[in-house]
Amino acid sequence: MKPILKSQDLAINGAPPAFIEQLHVGRPNIGSREAFMKYVGDIFDRRWLSNDGPMVQEFERRVAAYHGVKHCVAMCNGTVALEIAIRALGLEGEVIVPSYTFIATAHALSWQAITPVFADIDPVTHNLDPAAVRRMITPRTTGIIGVHLWGRGAPVDELQAIADEHGLKLMFDAAHAFGCSYKGRMIGNFGTCEVLSFHATKFFNTFEGGAVVTNDDELAETMRLMRNFGFVAMDKVVHPGTNGKMIEVAAAMGLVNLDAIDSVIDANRRNHHTYREALSGLPGISLLAFDEAERNNYQYVVMQVGRDCPVTRDRIIEALHAENIRARKYFWPGCHNMQPYRDLYPHAGLLLPNTQQVADSVVVLPTGTTMDSEMVRAVAAVIRVLVTGRA
Ligand SMILES: *Cc1c(COP(=O)(O)O)cnc(C)c1O
Repeated sequence: MKPILKSQDLAINGAPPAFIEQLHVGRPNIGSREAFMKYVGDIFDRRWLSNDGPMVQEFERRVAAYHGVKHCVAMCNGTVALEIAIRALGLEGEVIVPSYTFIATAHALSWQAITPVFADIDPVTHNLDPAAVRRMITPRTTGIIGVHLWGRGAPVDELQAIADEHGLKLMFDAAHAFGCSYKGRMIGNFGTCEVLSFHATKFFNTFEGGAVVTNDDELAETMRLMRNFGFVAMDKVVHPGTNGKMIEVAAAMGLVNLDAIDSVIDANRRNHHTYREALSGLPGISLLAFDEAERNNYQYVVMQVGRDCPVTRDRIIEALHAENIRARKYFWPGCHNMQPYRDLYPHAGLLLPNTQQVADSVVVLPTGTTMDSEMVRAVAAVIRVLVTGRA
């Protein structure tokens, strides 16, 4: 497909803007380089590179304080954090999860021979539909993993009620929800534990990294053992374990990025509102809203292309890519359509109509600290031209 906008249409002071080469979803937000380099110098001086070093300890304290939660157990990535949390909770048999999530939510279960059972989502919030969760409970069900999709809280109270009623464990995949709140309370305080991801593309990153946050002392202690091969002391192993440790240099990146958080939120919020304004009134185009009464990180700009839109979702993506705007489908075609789950549940789609419909309609647009309002308006202009046929 040929670009719609010629680069001179977007020219700023006669030159095409730099973003023409590089706009894409999930471009990392990076704090002060100088502060990071200083930390790296300190790490080299100490020659303490891993194994619960001072940077990791400081990072854990600050992440826990930021979310108002008792414990933060930092790990090498969000997927291992999920696997360890699932195992520490003693989940087995079947666990109910949404299909409309990143594949790691399901894989963290099947990796340890637990069957993920997919429940449908609410088509408006994109989060688990409690009624659908109820329908998927069997005698083999031991737990529910809710996902705070796009950083917007899952229906925590309803899921907790279901868990209590059926004697199930409840935990959350909060990979999108760093710094977000639900009913005024910070994410990290719900279920038995919540899992954060600090992958490079997330709102907050440590290059790669993750953590489990919890208010449960015993669970935190077990997970600390599990992430370090079960060692309690030199030469003394008391628990099965793996290598889930966060390294010092990752924690240093985390400390630097914690200092930059407010500026990232400001940029994301501004971009979100600029998109909202610039895309308003387009037929069949809607933008998922954030509840301004909550704390949000505004990391995901989720546009939906409805049936009343004159152009298809896939054509919009294709056109944006032709402009070097790397917009993305997200969680398409749904975990249930990926292996090994597709073979396991060939007819799952029949039970997941909302998942299918949302996965087919979403376009995630680029945002973050590397984008200003002018760039956001340029992206919106491409969409406007496509949908209305005029600039
Ligand atoms: C990113 C992500 C993960 C995995 O985290 P990693 O740090 O990349 O391993 C898990 N669940 C969801 C919903 C995610 O978006």
